[in-house]
Amino acid sequence: MVLKVYNTLSRKKEVFKPINKKEVKVYTCGPTVYWYQHIGNMRAYLFSDILKRVLLYDSYKVKHVINITDVGHLTSDADEGEDKIEKAAKKENKSAKEIADHYFSVFDEDLKKLNVLQPDVWSKATEHIKEQIELIKKLEKKGYTYETKDGIYFDTSKLKDYGKLGRIKIEKLEAGKRIAMGDKKNATDFALWKFSPENEKRQQEWDSPWGVGFPGWHIECSAMSMKYLGEHFDIHTGGEDHIQVHHTNEIAQSESATGKKFVNYWLHNAFLTKGGEKISKSKGGLYTISDLEEKGYDPISYRYFTFTAHYRRSLNFSLAALTDAQNSYERLKNIIKNIKDDKKSNKKYIKEFEDAINNDLDMPKAISVLWKLIRDNKAAGKIDTIKKMDSVFGLDLLKKESIPKDILELAKERDKLRKEKKWNESDKIREKLKKKGYVVEDNEKGFSVKKLS
Ligand code: AMP
Ligand code: ZN
Repeated sequence: MVLKVYNTLSRKKEVFKPINKKEVKVYTCGPTVYWYQHIGNMRAYLFSDILKRVLLYDSYKVKHVINITDVGHLTSDADEGEDKIEKAAKKENKSAKEIADHYFSVFDEDLKKLNVLQPDVWSKATEHIKEQIELIKKLEKKGYTYETKDGIYFDTSKLKDYGKLGRIKIEKLEAGKRIAMGDKKNATDFALWKFSPENEKRQQEWDSPWGVGFPGWHIECSAMSMKYLGEHFDIHTGGEDHIQVHHTNEIAQSESATGKKFVNYWLHNAFLTKGGEKISKSKGGLYTISDLEEKGYDPISYRYFTFTAHYRRSLNFSLAALTDAQNSYERLKNIIKNIKDDKKSNKKYIKEFEDAINNDLDMPKAISVLWKLIRDNKAAGKIDTIKKMDSVFGLDLLKKESIPKDILELAKERDKLRKEKKWNESDKIREKLKKKGYVVEDNEKGFSVKKLS
């Protein structure tokens, strides 16, 4: 099987060649935990989940790291403004740690609801201050840094190929001066270490060779990815908004420190949009997974919804479109529930499916292959084929439905009433269950409950 992925670095679809055949190393930029992750953010993790599942399907072992930004991400990408976590802590009158722990645990729950596989390592920025300081020291020794009154900065003019990922035209940036310069020498320079403001006591600050302060946002991803995956590793993922600044800076500082190529394949997902506009926290009006649940949607139907567009295409969100996805997903499961066969998997469909997933993770195509399979009256081995496919889809396609506790209790009560020959009352409960979407059937052993399809 040949896996091809689109590499932002070359702007081409390339054959994936792992550095070490035994284990593929993947790093995903994770959440800044100052607020809930919205369904747009979740698209980024559903994308890295599919990537990981395809690698596993292709028989690779995978080491996957996701970071948690719990310090240093400022409200402006130009290294100005407040620290997002400190700002939230003030607003909610909590400690920075309470804020970070709370929003991380909600995020983790949401990932589980979406059947996203857990990474091998969750790495928190605040737990890797030492590694970040070491990396900055290395850069300083090699002459890539300079000090201003508010911090230690990376001098991007020292690199010939700065901006190669984002194909940034430096001259244009300099001429346009759209970026707040402060004391920076070049518009693209960025903070490695920020000093704590003199007139303010920060909750999160550390000693360093340069003074008390906190790390800049980009340095955490270089320090932690290199710690867990090595100085040169296979794949780095994130949303497309990270290309121009965050990932560009990660490459600059990592490659300057080690003198080696940092990452072989850079993969980026396009945005979830609403009415054609990017969904962002600052614009407000965003749904979280819990919001969708409150509106009666199954989180897995959101997972299904994200498969309706290729990850490199923007996907427009609306509740109507999600309803369509939920209906398709339910229909799919209902058809699958009634398939009975025990043959080995169907080679023809497996081949079509593998061609789709290995072609830069073409999930819309993969889903269409699944639909074609279940509608094909002559195809054998459907169940085994679906099982294999679902190791990538993660849609619980063969999971037996569990009956909720309250429904079971009602059914038991009805059974008791029936045995007492209280027919009227037992019929009332039957009706109640029907309204809730369940049907009880009496049999020799007692009764069984099924969800109405
Ligand atoms: P943040 O918490 O802002 O650092 O974002 C977490 C991840 O979500 C990053 O990989 C972003 O690139 C990604 N992201 C943010 N907004 C969207 C969106 N509307 N659609 C898809 N990915 C997004
Ligand atoms: Zn990152």
